[in-house]
Amino acid sequence: MFKINDNFCKLAESYLFSEVARRINAFKAANPQADIIRMGIGDVTRPLCQAAIEAMHRAVDDEASSETFHGYGPEQGYPFLRDAIAEHDYLARGIEISPEEIFVSDGAKSDTGNIGDILAVGNRVAVTDPVYPVYVDTNVMGGRAGDFGADGCWSNILYLPVTAENGFVPSLPEEVADVIYLCYPNNPTGTTLTREQLKVWVDYARRNGSLILFDSAYESFIRSEDVPHSIYEIPGAREVAIEFRSFSKTAGFTGVRCGYTVVPKELKARDADGNEVSVNHLWLRRQCTKFNGASYVAQRGAAAIYIPEGKRQTREAVDYYLRNAALLRKGLLEAGLEVFGGTDAPYVWIKTPGNIDSWKFFDMLLERCHVAGTPGSGFGPAGEGYIRLTAFNTYENTAEAVRRIAEADFG
Ligand code: PLP
Repeated sequence: MFKINDNFCKLAESYLFSEVARRINAFKAANPQADIIRMGIGDVTRPLCQAAIEAMHRAVDDEASSETFHGYGPEQGYPFLRDAIAEHDYLARGIEISPEEIFVSDGAKSDTGNIGDILAVGNRVAVTDPVYPVYVDTNVMGGRAGDFGADGCWSNILYLPVTAENGFVPSLPEEVADVIYLCYPNNPTGTTLTREQLKVWVDYARRNGSLILFDSAYESFIRSEDVPHSIYEIPGAREVAIEFRSFSKTAGFTGVRCGYTVVPKELKARDADGNEVSVNHLWLRRQCTKFNGASYVAQRGAAAIYIPEGKRQTREAVDYYLRNAALLRKGLLEAGLEVFGGTDAPYVWIKTPGNIDSWKFFDMLLERCHVAGTPGSGFGPAGEGYIRLTAFNTYENTAEAVRRIAEADFG
């Protein structure tokens, strides 16, 4: 009989969000009157901006006539979108990225997962802990993770704890990490790195010949001056980093699907014989073989967020979520909780009072406040003792959640 990739058998069933849903449903069944405020899943709630909607309507009409019909497009994305990205996301910030270094895709989840295709199995991978689970699970699939231990860690992955104790700034690993995933602004903690703190990692990667996989899916939430919008703001990063971006949280494209990845021409790796290989070339080869491009309609919608109305409208939506995040942060701090993140990100990371474990606090929030979050331990061992709340709700619900939590007794 045919055989499967055994690495897939090492993965536990995706437990986190199904268990969250199971507990919410059980509570709802037992308490049908309860008005549950859901602040768990990281999906946006506001509609797409008008500029993107109009552009997509026009794009659909293009497909209706043979003169303007678009079939297969370039695998790396249409020039109209890649040029707009290079100009507005990079050149406008003084960063030179050429359109040939930009690969448009159906989102950052695919790209952060697929990038492993071009990396050797023997690479030592480092992740921050807690972490966006895709980085870990895709390395398990790719055979780079080793075995899962009783400590909740994979034996070949280097975990870099980020907790209140180290101010959510990961320390450099003692062993050399070949591939390092950094996500800033961070999911799940909502915290950021300053330019200086990110430079430490770029310098480390340059010293050690490491690759940084920089996920900046939440870049549009950055408001603090000292937080870099791109890793390429750091000198020397073009030689060591790939950057992933997404239109999901920036512009509400979680359902439409569009994102992109930047692979600079200077980024070089070695093959097994020690020959130097262009990573940009490898990624192009990978995408051309396995991916047929993001849809024309989605790319027209994405390009519209770079026109003046699109910029204004998307900023308004992100500001709305940031206002919620600020309200959460302030209200929960005033209620005496330890709260992190939420200033340059849609996530607020809360230390559980009295060190109760994440799932227990999840249950308490649900039962006493009718508020659903996500237990920190679901994102990695160092997330134990924390819970994540998202700002992707209405302002009114966010205010109500804060009021309920502030009035609750968790003693
Ligand atoms: N990267 C991070 C850190 C995320 O939190 C998410 C979604 O929640 C993604 C990537 C996925 O982005 P996309 O919708 O573009 O696939």
